Amino acid sequence: MQKKYHIIVYGCQMNISDSERVAAVLEGIRYKQTSNITEADLVVITMCSVRQSAVNRVYGILEKIEKFKKKPVTVLTGCILKKDKKKFSNLFNHVIDIKEISNLSKLLGKNIKSKKDYLDIAPRYSSKFSANIPIMTGCNNFCSYCVVPYARGREISRPAKNIISEIKNSVKRGCKEIWLLGQNVNSYKDKKTNFPKLLRQINKIQGSFWIRFTSSHPKDFSDEVISAMAECKKVTPYLNLPVQSGDDQILKLMNRHYTIKEYKNKIAKLRKKIPGVCLSTDIIVGFPGETKKQFENTAKLFRDVKYDMAYINKYSPRHGTAAAKLKDNVSIIEKKKREKILNEILKITALEKNKKYIGKEVEILNDRTKEYKNILVKNLKPGEFIKVKVTGAKPWRLTAN
Ligand code: SF4
Repeated sequence: MQKKYHIIVYGCQMNISDSERVAAVLEGIRYKQTSNITEADLVVITMCSVRQSAVNRVYGILEKIEKFKKKPVTVLTGCILKKDKKKFSNLFNHVIDIKEISNLSKLLGKNIKSKKDYLDIAPRYSSKFSANIPIMTGCNNFCSYCVVPYARGREISRPAKNIISEIKNSVKRGCKEIWLLGQNVNSYKDKKTNFPKLLRQINKIQGSFWIRFTSSHPKDFSDEVISAMAECKKVTPYLNLPVQSGDDQILKLMNRHYTIKEYKNKIAKLRKKIPGVCLSTDIIVGFPGETKKQFENTAKLFRDVKYDMAYINKYSPRHGTAAAKLKDNVSIIEKKKREKILNEILKITALEKNKKYIGKEVEILNDRTKEYKNILVKNLKPGEFIKVKVTGAKPWRLTAN
């Protein structure tokens, strides 16, 4: 009988993309996907070590599996820290680095020739309309709070020709949205092709589709990227530019390599070249030593920049990082308070921005506008570009008939 697999993803779009490659390896050895974990012969967890909460969830799911009648083979992969790898190797049947995932077939007793580079594995896409395309993996930045450089290693850019070929195939099978993924897409480099050049090459691919990308590091977000975004019609007017703090001293402690003045200059240039661009950011509140005054600088940045969206995280130390050696001296109550203050500011600016759409016609794909605004539409046609008139606005969502 054909064996069944079930994949659980704890993490970001990169982890989802990794899982699509894991699924392809498993289907290559004739495993069949099941959405019912209790009937699976094999359970794969693609995890993210960035937050302790994700690590804790892995323990939670293992406890559940323990109680199943049918005990599946368990595999752990994704962004795993060395110290977690040791810990988890007693609990899982196999713990495997994502870059080694093509060896999974061998571990499961099938002698299939494996691809050298895991990014060359043709994925089993989880969406018909949207494709996650990794363009690079790893990170050289060593932000003081982040485990990614330890979990995924140094930056490796994928050959541009392989990226172009994967996108062409995705567009051929009907994909309308291409997400270019990497820990720092702005530092992409394949021989003479840097990130803006890659955007221009992808923009030339025949077909009707949108190009989105994540994540960007402000220090590498150059004028050349802004020009490419403005000139390439398929690149959507949306940018997530993680600032992490509005205070220069905290940014230094975070090892971010930019000042707030430089960050704001980049935003001003972007808004001048792409009027109406939708802007989101990532923020950490309560970084070790963050004073009330330093936090107030972040609140001021929020008021000044007027973000469309922000992903606000309360700082928690991750073992092995430089910041973990600093005293985590902002209490959880204070962190929650700071998170709430930023959310209140964001609510106001996001609503202000969204109200400007009322009465306007916008192009949408599924539940998102081209600017990546969430939109609620009656009688949605999944996977099709349609134009709708915006009738209402809330801080986190537009509505249309
Ligand atoms: S840029 Fe900084 S936060 Fe982003 S993955 Fe690299 S080290 Fe982590």
